[in-house]
Amino acid sequence: MKAFEYVGATSVDQAVKALTPGSAPLAGGTDLINRMKDYVTSPERVVYLNDVKELAGISGDAASGVTILAGTRLAEILASEVVKSAYPALWQTTSEVATPQIRNMASLGGNLFQHPRCWYYRSGFGLVPKTTDGKHMLREGDNRYAAIFMTDGDALYVHPSSLAVPLIALGAKATLVGPEGERTVEVEELYKVPTSNSESPFATKPGEILKSVTIPASKGKNASYEARHKQAHDWPLVMASVNLTFSGETVSDARVVVYGVAPVPWRSKAAEEAIKDKVITVESARSAGEAAAAGAKPLSMNGFKVSMLKTVITRALCTSAGNKYWEA
Ligand SMILES: Cc1cc2nc3c(=O)[nH]c(=O)nc-3n(C[C@H](O)[C@H](O)[C@H](O)COP(=O)(O)OP(=O)(O)OC[C@H]3O[C@@H](n4cnc5c(N)ncnc54)[C@H](O)[C@@H]3O)c2cc1C
Repeated sequence: MKAFEYVGATSVDQAVKALTPGSAPLAGGTDLINRMKDYVTSPERVVYLNDVKELAGISGDAASGVTILAGTRLAEILASEVVKSAYPALWQTTSEVATPQIRNMASLGGNLFQHPRCWYYRSGFGLVPKTTDGKHMLREGDNRYAAIFMTDGDALYVHPSSLAVPLIALGAKATLVGPEGERTVEVEELYKVPTSNSESPFATKPGEILKSVTIPASKGKNASYEARHKQAHDWPLVMASVNLTFSGETVSDARVVVYGVAPVPWRSKAAEEAIKDKVITVESARSAGEAAAAGAKPLSMNGFKVSMLKTVITRALCTSAGNKYWEA
């Protein structure tokens, strides 16, 4: 690991002042420290956030909305009764992240700003990994875990944060704080798609950190469903989160967001349109899954993700309606 300067911040103000160019915020360290050890990220200075008390905790309720501060550990999100009862899409996803030990250390901020797991990126070839003769390593190489949407571009990795997916489905907003003050954006606006290795996958301004995420009042129903290699100690292969509002029995508004298929959390407008004005049944949920898959352009080794995409959307929709037909 390259030598670095360490600053232990005790307030947000101190942290922001210490985050000069070339610095990185450090929360639980479950992602950043690994990248530093592998020389993938080599900050000049690390600013430790875990002692900043104003960055930890959960407040609010289902009727008015809930705010989760950025330093809140994933284990605390899991222990929250309001998250469990009002936002099961978020609770379920959090329960499946990594292991209990990692969830005890990992923070919401670190989760939303973790870097992609693409093995070419983690081996030092960047997010747009190319050989010296210009061949795209993911397009031409082992792309079994790569994207199936936006594959005409050069960012072929998949976005890593599974918590971003239910948060976007739930319409959550992120408050950022930096040298120019505070601003609030939709969680989906935190991310962008780099076109070269010198670009960031985050849409934050220099020196900004996440302060909190606010989820609006809970209306209707929400759920998540993951397909993964194994139950623990891994990221999902493909996952869907849905958030539905109803007029009587029919869906009046839907948000369907998918993990593991694009370099950003993938909002499937096609699935949203397909389920609108429908009663949730296995058939209508399957039609939404089918609609989501139209337009997918898998790479040479990841065609399996298209059927997973259909399944996770179908099952997330059915879970929201209390129908876990596959367990019968
Ligand atoms: C075996 C394993 C399995 C995993 N499975 C999953 C999974 O299923 N789903 C999933 O989503 N994740 C998964 N993870 C990733 C894990 O959730 C993240 O490593 C963790 O959430 C990062 O949080 P942290 O507090 O440790 O962040 P750190 O490692 O401290 O930081 C991560 C990044 O976020 C930045 N950062 C930290 N705090 C802030 C802030 N407030 N504002 C702006 N930037 C900030 C840091 O500079 C760094 O770049 C897994 C990790 C492991 C090791």
